[in-house]
Amino acid sequence: MVIIMRSGASESHISTVRKEVEARGFEVVENRGKENVVVAIIGIIDTNQRQPLIDHFSQMDGVERVTPITKPYKLTAKAAKIQTKIHVGDVEIGNGRFVVIAGPCALESPEQLMSAAAGVKAAGAAMLRVGIYKPRTGPYAFQGMEEEGIEIVHGLKGEIGLPIVSEITRPQMVEKMSEVVDILQIGARNAQNSDLLKEVGRGVRPVVLKRGLSMTLDELMQSAEYILSEGNPNVILCERGIRTFETATRNTLDLGGAAYLKTVMTHLPVIIDPSHGTGIRELIAISTKMAVAGGFDGLLVEVHPKPWEALCDGPQSLTIEKFGKLMSELKRIAPVFDKAI
Ligand code: PEP
Ligand code: MN
Repeated sequence: MVIIMRSGASESHISTVRKEVEARGFEVVENRGKENVVVAIIGIIDTNQRQPLIDHFSQMDGVERVTPITKPYKLTAKAAKIQTKIHVGDVEIGNGRFVVIAGPCALESPEQLMSAAAGVKAAGAAMLRVGIYKPRTGPYAFQGMEEEGIEIVHGLKGEIGLPIVSEITRPQMVEKMSEVVDILQIGARNAQNSDLLKEVGRGVRPVVLKRGLSMTLDELMQSAEYILSEGNPNVILCERGIRTFETATRNTLDLGGAAYLKTVMTHLPVIIDPSHGTGIRELIAISTKMAVAGGFDGLLVEVHPKPWEALCDGPQSLTIEKFGKLMSELKRIAPVFDKAI
């Protein structure tokens, strides 16, 4: 069950509600969104207790409504909130905009970074993606520029002029990476790393949480709940393809599942990653157009100045030129679906 406080409810109203929940022997988790505070009641509520609790809390000062949620995700569920909007600099995610996050899979050199950043910015991307740490499937593949990469991004941040999204792989990295990047990404391979999820939940940066390779939507919701239950409401979910029996594409981009996630399951913004979702450059434009038409909140796409020389994920990266062409198509299509780019 969740108690949704009115926007502008006072601290004393919130703490009175909390105390009343605790007095009944339940644990409380609280989430402070931009618009309002949500107080979730954790624990098993007997069926005959449910309606009296709803009646009691609904009439308390500062309460907007009380909603029963029996799922193991209380704060992430759609019923917990009307809509989540996430602010990163001037960019607002989750409010009728299709936010394009583009850039190379991995940072390779200062020159490559600046060329990619200038290219995606000129084409109209809202944010730059760039991997500093790369959790690869095998140990002999390029693992990212790591500490040296942090220094490079730190030094060039001012010149880049776009908010930066980058992946973290260990809880100990949260503080340092939060000083350098604007959004922390949790990748498919770490999507169920509970220590990492909890630590970004205690952090100050918004989080892009990717769906794991073999993760159900229910499990993705529970991973997001780890972050929200630690106090960080700013989570963006990312569909990046899952493993199925079909091997023609690198992964199966589950647009139907992502649509279910967005329309039925959660109030959080949902973005689409057609690069990892298909693994094939030629399929990125069509998948992106489907994502715009599907009403999703944005795109995470790999763009490289020279994909044929990329140290990671070249075959699923657009050239800057192809990305520019895609952006101009999106600018024409998006208004039809009430989306701003
Ligand atoms: C990435 O975004 O480059 C990446 C490694 O993605 P995923 O975690 O979805 O494989
Ligand atoms: Mn990649």
